Amino acid sequence: MSDPARPDPVVHATAAIVSQGDEIVLGQTLDTNSRALAGRLMDLGIVPVEHVSLPDDEAAIAACFARLSSSVDLILCTGGLGPTADDLTRAALARAMGRPLVEDARSLERIRAWFAGRGREMPEINRVQAMLPEGAAAIDNDHGTAPGIAARLGRADVFCLPGPPAELRPMVERFVAPVLRPPAGRTVRTGVVHTIGLGESDLASRLKNSPRGDLMERTRMPLVGTTASGGVVSARVRYEGPEPAERAGAIVAGLVAHVRDLAGAYAFASEGAPHESLPAAVIEALRRRGETLVVAESCTAGLLGSMIGDVPGASVVFLGGVITYHNRLKVELAGVEAGVLEGSGGARPPGAVSGACAEAMASGARARCGAGWALSVTGIAGPGGAVEGKPVGTVYIGIAGPTGVIAGGVSSRRFAMGGDRRAVREWSARSALGMLWLALVGEPAARMLRQVDEVG
Ligand code: AMP
Ligand code: MG
Repeated sequence: MSDPARPDPVVHATAAIVSQGDEIVLGQTLDTNSRALAGRLMDLGIVPVEHVSLPDDEAAIAACFARLSSSVDLILCTGGLGPTADDLTRAALARAMGRPLVEDARSLERIRAWFAGRGREMPEINRVQAMLPEGAAAIDNDHGTAPGIAARLGRADVFCLPGPPAELRPMVERFVAPVLRPPAGRTVRTGVVHTIGLGESDLASRLKNSPRGDLMERTRMPLVGTTASGGVVSARVRYEGPEPAERAGAIVAGLVAHVRDLAGAYAFASEGAPHESLPAAVIEALRRRGETLVVAESCTAGLLGSMIGDVPGASVVFLGGVITYHNRLKVELAGVEAGVLEGSGGARPPGAVSGACAEAMASGARARCGAGWALSVTGIAGPGGAVEGKPVGTVYIGIAGPTGVIAGGVSSRRFAMGGDRRAVREWSARSALGMLWLALVGEPAARMLRQVDEVG
C-alpha cells in the first residue's frame, strides 16, 4: 500500500467522504453514513473537506477516486460492496488503481463461515465479495458478508466500507479509526446548544452582542455558527487548533456554557447532556419533578404523542391522551363545552380553532386523565380549511398545569406556522413541547417564535 512518491507514514490532515448508491443520489435513502463518518473524523482531528454521493456507475466512481486521490490524504467510501451487479465499488477502486481484482482466500473463508454459522451454504453470487484490487487489504466484517477494502491510491489512503450502518460502525471503530493519523498538534473539539422558541436571527444577535464580543465573527476560535431545523435552533461551537485535547475540551465546554446562558430559558440541551432532543429534555424535566403529562390533539392527530413516545422511558411521565379531531370528540373526550364550538343564542362562538377551545381541551384532558400537565393543539394544517381571520397555519396551543406555574391553571397562545401541512403539524407539536419546556424552567410567558398576538 505504499507509494514511493509519498513515503509512509502519511498524515491524514484532510479527508473526503464518498457515499455510493443510486438510492442515495436519488434521495430514497438518507446518507447518514457520511454524517457519522464526518463527525468521527472531526473527533479525531481530521478535517473532512468534501462529501460526494455517486450513483451505481463504475466509471464515475473510479473517476471520483482518481480525482480525490490527488487532493486529500484520506478517502472513506461507504456502500457498493454487496454481491449484486449494482455493487461496483470494488471494481471501481481496482480500475482507479490500475490493478486487477484478485480473490482473497481468507475473506472467502470468512464469507463461507458466515453463511455456515447460519446453517446455509454460501451462494455462488457472494463469492465476488472476496475479490480485492491487487495490493489492497481486506477489512474484516463481523456483522455481514462484505469485507471492507483498505488500499493506497495516489497520495490518499482509501477505506471502502459496507453501507449498512450496523456493519460500518464497528468496522470503523475496530479497524479504521486506530490506523488513522491525525496531524500532530491539531485538536478539533465541538459542542452544541439546542434551543426552542427562539428565532435563528434572535439567537444570532444574542451571540453577536455577547459580553465576550461577537461570538459569530468568522475569525474567532472557537467558531460559533447557528443552524435551524424544524423549530429547533442550535448554536454549534468548534475549536480547531494547537491546544491539547483536554484544554481544547475545556475551552469548548466553557463557551457552550456561556452560549447556554445567552440563550436563557430557550436552551433545552447542550452536548454532553444526556437529553439531546426536545421531547427527551421535557420528559427528563417532568421526571425530576415527579409530574405527569397528557395530550389532547386535533390538527397534530397523534404526532405530539408520538414524539413523546419516541423517547425511551417516556412511560414514567407520559400517561397518554386523546385525539379529538372531530368536534364531537372534543366535547365527549376532552370535555370542551359545546358552546365553545357551536353558537348559541346568536353569539358567534370562538370555534374549534381558538384559544378558548385549546384551553378547554387542555384543562379537560388534564382533569379527565388525572395528569399534572396537559398540552393541546388545535389549528388549520391546510391546504384547505382557512376561514376569515384564520389562515392556513393558524394554530392554538394550550397548556394546563399547576396554578403555581400557570396562572389560572391554563393558558394558550396563537401561532402562525409556515409551510405545508406536514411542516405545520411538526412545528405545532414541537412548539407545544417548547411551551411546556418554558413553563417547566419557570418562564411560562417567554415569547416564542411564530407566536402572534390575538387580533380582534
Ligand atoms: P450497499 O452496501 O450499497 O449495498 O448498501 C446496503 C444498504 O446500506 C443500503 O440499502 C442502505 O440501507 C444502507 N446504506 C448504504 N449507504 C448508506 C449511507 N450512505 N447512509 C445510510 N445508509 C446507507
Ligand atoms: Mg448499493
